[in-house]
Amino acid sequence: MEHGNTAGLRVIDCILHAHDRSLMLLACVVCAIGIYASFAVGRHAARASGKAKVYWGVVNVVASGCTAWATHFIVLLAFEPEMPAAFEPYLTATSLACAIVGIGAGVTVSIAGAQRSRQFLAGLIIGTGVAALHYIGQSAYLVQGSVSWDVELVVSSIAVSLPLFGLAMLAIANRDRRIRKLAAPLMLLAIALLHFCGMAAMTLRYDPTFVFPADAVSPKTVTPVVAGVSIALIVLAVLGWRFDLAAKARIRQDRRRLRDLADVALEGLLITQSDVIITSNSSVERLSGFGQDELTGTHISALLPHIDLAGLPEKEERETELVGATGQRIPVRVLRSQVPLGYKLQTVIAVRDQRERLRTEAKMRALAFNDSLTGLPNRASFYELLTQQTALPANTAKPFAVVMVDLDRFKQVNDTFGHPTGDDVLVRIAERLRAIARADDVVARLGGDEFAVMQRGADAQAACGLCVSIVDACNRETFIVGGQSIHLGASVGFALYPEDGHVPAELLRNADLALYAAKADGKGVHRRYESALNDKTQERQTLEAGLRRALTDGQLELHYQPLVDARTGRIASAEALVRWRHPDRGLVSPAEFIGIAEESGIIIPLGDWVLRTACAQAATWPAHIGVAVNLSPVQFRDKGLASSVRSALQDAALAPQRLELEITEGVLLIDEARTLQTLDELRAMHVRISMDDFGTGYSSLSYIRKFPFDKIKIDRSFVRNIPEDAESVAIVRAIITMTACLGLPTTMEGVETADQFRFAVAEGCSAIQGYFVSRPLPASKFQALLEHDSLIGSLKPENDGRLLTADGRANGQTAR
Ligand code: C2E
Ligand code: CA
Ligand code: CA
Repeated sequence: MEHGNTAGLRVIDCILHAHDRSLMLLACVVCAIGIYASFAVGRHAARASGKAKVYWGVVNVVASGCTAWATHFIVLLAFEPEMPAAFEPYLTATSLACAIVGIGAGVTVSIAGAQRSRQFLAGLIIGTGVAALHYIGQSAYLVQGSVSWDVELVVSSIAVSLPLFGLAMLAIANRDRRIRKLAAPLMLLAIALLHFCGMAAMTLRYDPTFVFPADAVSPKTVTPVVAGVSIALIVLAVLGWRFDLAAKARIRQDRRRLRDLADVALEGLLITQSDVIITSNSSVERLSGFGQDELTGTHISALLPHIDLAGLPEKEERETELVGATGQRIPVRVLRSQVPLGYKLQTVIAVRDQRERLRTEAKMRALAFNDSLTGLPNRASFYELLTQQTALPANTAKPFAVVMVDLDRFKQVNDTFGHPTGDDVLVRIAERLRAIARADDVVARLGGDEFAVMQRGADAQAACGLCVSIVDACNRETFIVGGQSIHLGASVGFALYPEDGHVPAELLRNADLALYAAKADGKGVHRRYESALNDKTQERQTLEAGLRRALTDGQLELHYQPLVDARTGRIASAEALVRWRHPDRGLVSPAEFIGIAEESGIIIPLGDWVLRTACAQAATWPAHIGVAVNLSPVQFRDKGLASSVRSALQDAALAPQRLELEITEGVLLIDEARTLQTLDELRAMHVRISMDDFGTGYSSLSYIRKFPFDKIKIDRSFVRNIPEDAESVAIVRAIITMTACLGLPTTMEGVETADQFRFAVAEGCSAIQGYFVSRPLPASKFQALLEHDSLIGSLKPENDGRLLTADGRANGQTAR
């Protein structure tokens, strides 16, 4: 402690009293100029590239070393030892070399990496060089006497100053500008410490007997050398200053050029440095509403608060929001890139306004997601909505119902009154559904005449309530279109989320299954999905696959039901009715599979098979016996029908007059022009056409006029209640009278009793078909019946218990 204090005093005393003041001032000036020159040249080296970089780097190191050396020597010269002094030339030169090598080594270590430990080490190396400069330089200082050293002070000066050099290098490498500014004072402090401690540690004792070595150089000789080095440093400083000015001018010019260029760009461009806006183009001004002055110097996060630009990979666009002058949020896309500007890499942020694009997209989406006829969401957007609802996290998810609505007679309306009328009806149905649904429910048109409602927060009861309202609304109300009143109906099915399905596809499918079931139950009802429906679908699929196999494996057969002439009581023809001899289930009725065959398209090959088989069979019968074949509307949609009939007739060599095709009104509802053309083609072949199931359909009377039928078959449903039901009696009478007026023969089908048989005969029907006459029979049995029929005309029980009766005839209504 004692020693430390005296040492400290000695140092201060040394500075204040032992030195020439004006030379000390000069030392300061030279040091400052030297440091400026070193830095300026260093900056120039940093900006340069290739050989120039190495060259100016070396100049920088030499300049730094010379600065330290010159400063040191000027201060040494300022020292007034009050006795003659001289310099040992080799050691003096060595001290300069030490400074240059030390600084050069330190800088090399420093620029090879950015780690802190490396920077500190670089500081230590530079410090070692400078310390060597000082102490070797000092030992080159000779006086007329003896020199003794306070070793402790020397060691501690080195021990304290070296870490200071380390800290100074750490400061230089720091990102923060304020910390960087600490580097020079730290360095200066370390140098001053070394120098003055060194001086104070030296005790000189005058000894007149001391003789300077022969090669000792007097201060008078050293002074011009030091002055020369100092002047060189000044020249270098001026050069460095010019370099700096030129560089700044170039940056300014580059910036101006970039801004000019940027102003032409539609995109907003921001140039930033350490996330602070340096400049921006006019697009940014227009976009944000901020002026150029306001933008410059602002932190980028004020403009783009939601994005971490530093973390944004280069050349990768991101969507974010720009906050404008009035706080408005503007959707933008940003792109960050590093662009060399002047000598530096600068961050350029491109900002693209997304408002127009988003507007267009929204418009496109509205178009794509809305049904243009009704304005309701379409299938895609309904699906999207369900996706959103089902994707909600469990704690926010709410139950809802998916209700599917299908109009029952829409197709007929469309086909009968034309598409404009159909569209009109759809628009009005949409309005009604909207009126029934609550405001937060979603009504969508899934396509055709299919609508769906998403009922929010619904349980089974609420969904049933909605379904009843929908069915009611569609059933109760009639539409008046073009003076005609149209009575529609609706079938409705629904599925509940989450009980009946967790994902949109499942919910839609299950609601669809429920709708299907509702239709099957009789139209105008509603059903909820149940897992049994799934089983039914499975069953359907099995049936469909089985049916395909039936066709190829020959499991199908035709039965023939005779039609008797009402006047003669003798068999005039037979209706071919298809049967499926199922390997497990036995004989399957067409009622069970014709529907599926129609929906799956199997009806086309199946119908063809029936035609060929029936024609071939009929060709074996007596020539006066005709055959009737049922045609499905689906077969009429197929272009090949006429040619298929022609080839069946040709292959069987059957006279076309013996073939009768039974069609239902469904056929006439398809496409009038096409159907008419096919019918004409068939009639041109002399095939006869009869209207089946007459009276059940839709505005039947208008059709009989329009289409050239050969015969009308009165539907079973009217015959069933004859003769008890007065209304049925009246209807059948009216039909027979009317068709008679048109000159058309009538068949009464489904005749089961003698009373019905008598009624048919009395009313003037031409043909009678029904269990009372005979059930449909296998081909062989029908063949046998034909032979039998040609022999007798009396009542005969059949082997299998069915009756072939001529009972009506036996009652004497018609004579033989
Ligand atoms: P449909 O054309 O009306 O055929 C008459 C149906 O009534 C037949 O039923 C027949 O067995 C039944 N029937 C006949 N007399 C009586 C009776 O006195 N009382 C009662 N209650 N029913 C009687 P089936 O054979 O089950 O055929 C049902 C329907 O399947 C047919 O109705 C027809 O629409 C369709 N079908 C049958 N075979 C074919 C075919 O080869 N092609 C097409 N496209 N459809 C067929
Ligand atoms: Ca029929
Ligand atoms: Ca029928």
